[in-house]
Amino acid sequence: MHVLVLGAGQLARMMALAGAPLNIEISAFDVTSETIVHPLTKAVIGHGLDNAIHTADVITAEFEHIPHDVLDICEKSGKFLPTTQAIKAGGDRRLEKALLDAAGVKNAQYTIIQTREDFDAAIDQVGIPMVLKTALGGYDGKGQWRLKDQQEVDRIWAEMAEALASHNQAIVAEEFVPFTREVSLVGARGKNGEVVVYPLAENIHVDGVLSLSTAIDEPQLQAQAKQMFTAVAQSLDYVGVLALEFFDVNGELSVNEIAPRVHNSGHWTQQGAETCQFENHLRAVCGFPLGATQQLRPTAMINILGQDQVDSSLMATSGVHLHWYGKEKRTGRKMGHINVCADSQAMLFEKLQALSKVLPKAHYPAIHQITA
Ligand code: ATP
Ligand code: MG
Repeated sequence: MHVLVLGAGQLARMMALAGAPLNIEISAFDVTSETIVHPLTKAVIGHGLDNAIHTADVITAEFEHIPHDVLDICEKSGKFLPTTQAIKAGGDRRLEKALLDAAGVKNAQYTIIQTREDFDAAIDQVGIPMVLKTALGGYDGKGQWRLKDQQEVDRIWAEMAEALASHNQAIVAEEFVPFTREVSLVGARGKNGEVVVYPLAENIHVDGVLSLSTAIDEPQLQAQAKQMFTAVAQSLDYVGVLALEFFDVNGELSVNEIAPRVHNSGHWTQQGAETCQFENHLRAVCGFPLGATQQLRPTAMINILGQDQVDSSLMATSGVHLHWYGKEKRTGRKMGHINVCADSQAMLFEKLQALSKVLPKAHYPAIHQITA
């Protein structure tokens, strides 16, 4: 099987690594340069979307900010999964909110803003505090504002007006959800409609960027999350791995957003689950049986932000696994991750504590927060 992945980042890379033992070959399509590249070396192996589509058995995506004309061409080939509708919804918060409402899953109350009048109406309707997000192009907390005080309205409007000047842009104004924590559910739906999910992960974001994900075992929350996951996946007739990010408000979940792809909060499955999320995505889109999602042992994932080296002693620690993405170093950029496994939750916490002595706070903020 030959799978073409739209996007040539770390997710395509990790799909290639997971696909190799199953004889699933991956090539990556860089949507900006319209080149086909090797997912690991990034060597250019071809040019043009038509060429890329022609050589593929299946086409999928590793990110959601893909031009709609590219998606429409892929759709016409009949080879694209999970469905272009899901990718479009993941890339446009207006479509995403409509999808969540249509699937009947709880999500933050919202209105859409185009003009200053809309903004004033949103303040009446949604209230302060409010979270404002660009409909298009947001990731890692970028393209967002927090309105906490009436006095900030003019300043925030000036910044939003600038964002609104770009093509087809809008702002989604959401009520501020006073969550006790954030969790996410990663799962897969097969071509036959079968749904499997991994254990929930508890996620700690710092300055809008995911820093730490830990798999948790909470049956009541897991059941709620699986029900919402299934509703969204079925409403899209989805095939592949899908992630739902939730706010947990004292044990009640509401969906923050969806990611129609393998997800950063599912990287722990590489060492912590029987079948990792990358393999399960490929199994789903290739029409193979889905792999078991059981957790093997307590596992956490730490993102490596803005560093391209770690102390080599880490590699000598049992249960610690490094995953580099081969990217050029930039401040705050996701450069790789570290999966940490242990025999019990208490031992996992001890390992995270020991790692916080070696890994600096600037690049690994969440392990410092939880062990402080
Ligand atoms: P991602 O990197 O996951 O794609 P993103 O930029 O798309 O992030 P969101 O997940 O929507 O953005 O928001 C980033 C973070 O901001 C959330 O993880 C959460 O901590 C906070 N946040 C977002 N919306 C709300 C809300 N309505 N109420 C409270 N906090 C919120
Ligand atoms: Mg998010």
